[in-house]
Amino acid sequence: MFDAIRIKSSQKDYEVLFTESIFDILEGLIQEGAFLVVDSKIHSIYFKNRIAPGILGKKLFLINAEEKNKNIESSQKLIESLVANGVKRNSKIVSVGGGITQDIVCFTASILFRGVPWIFIPTTLLAQADSCIGGKSSINFQNIKNLIGTFYPPDKIYIDPTFLNSLTEDDIKSGIGEMYHYYLHSASALTKDLHLKRSEVFSNRTALVKFIRESLSIKKRIIEIDEFDCGERRKFNYGHTFGHAIEALTNYEINHGQAVTVGMDLANFLSSKLGLMSEKEYQSLKILLKANFPDFRFSDFSINEYCNLLQKDKKNVNSNLACILSKGIGKLEVYELELNSKNRDLISDYFAIE
Ligand code: NAD
Ligand code: ZN
Repeated sequence: MFDAIRIKSSQKDYEVLFTESIFDILEGLIQEGAFLVVDSKIHSIYFKNRIAPGILGKKLFLINAEEKNKNIESSQKLIESLVANGVKRNSKIVSVGGGITQDIVCFTASILFRGVPWIFIPTTLLAQADSCIGGKSSINFQNIKNLIGTFYPPDKIYIDPTFLNSLTEDDIKSGIGEMYHYYLHSASALTKDLHLKRSEVFSNRTALVKFIRESLSIKKRIIEIDEFDCGERRKFNYGHTFGHAIEALTNYEINHGQAVTVGMDLANFLSSKLGLMSEKEYQSLKILLKANFPDFRFSDFSINEYCNLLQKDKKNVNSNLACILSKGIGKLEVYELELNSKNRDLISDYFAIE
């Protein structure tokens, strides 16, 4: 259908395959004795009449994909179920779901027997266009987003865009948010098309896969030269430092990719106020980003609480906020922002306007 994308990694190279017959592939994996860990919504929408119900609780386990469950306890429960059902070091674990299911399974697979092979079948736009490659697992801890994690790429990734038909509008926007952050990092020629031809893109699978492949290609280029986030890959935190704190502040009511969209807009706002980006460019990017915003009253935010969450971000250096600001499309900058009263006032101004 589409060419595979091969990713080089110091741990093991792996590939992304595109398919429209995921249930044949799953059937094969079940025959081989793989363990399946599946998002419970995906199970009820797609699995019920296709996969033998007898394997539930033995070879198939469900994940309730809510951010509050992306924690150590879920991983521990999964390990208990796998061990009780005879998992071995060479067993395969197949994760089917979005980024939450991916993070829980990737983390679990990386620590069980110091590493069990796993395969990922992403079912959200965010997971297909972003998180499926890169090898990171992230687990929340004490209301701090993604505080714990490992690097542990899957053996293989199968993308079937048919899954995207059942996503909510907000989950589509979440995926688009992540796609924008790659497109804006690399000044992709598809940036404007994604904004202007949105409904066309989502009604045409071939077009959609082109957009998914574009963000995966940008990510591939960078993770292959900076697998462990020491250099250029850090720029993929664009929108994330500010976005993670929005997620935590709203108790994850706002999804990841939409929080990142607001985070990018806030980063651009600060960039314009600090003289890195022109006001004109900030406003033109805002038009694009705003179409992807969550439905939320930002003026209700407690700025003190928000800044406290920013201060706890895992990437901070001393008391400064390690974040990504922008000099314009394709010109992201790693920045240490002092959270002094002037900059807090700027953040406060931003949310007051929104
Ligand atoms: P998710 O796993 O949070 O799922 C979002 C919602 O969609 C859930 O309710 C889920 O049950 C449902 N769902 C999943 N697939 C569906 C489908 N095909 N049809 C209908 N409903 C479906 O989804 P996400 O947005 O992919 O993931 C967000 C998470 O990913 C965040 O926790 C974020 O931190 C993490 N993330 C991880 C990485 C990484 O590299 N590991 C990268 C980016 C984001
Ligand atoms: Zn992200």
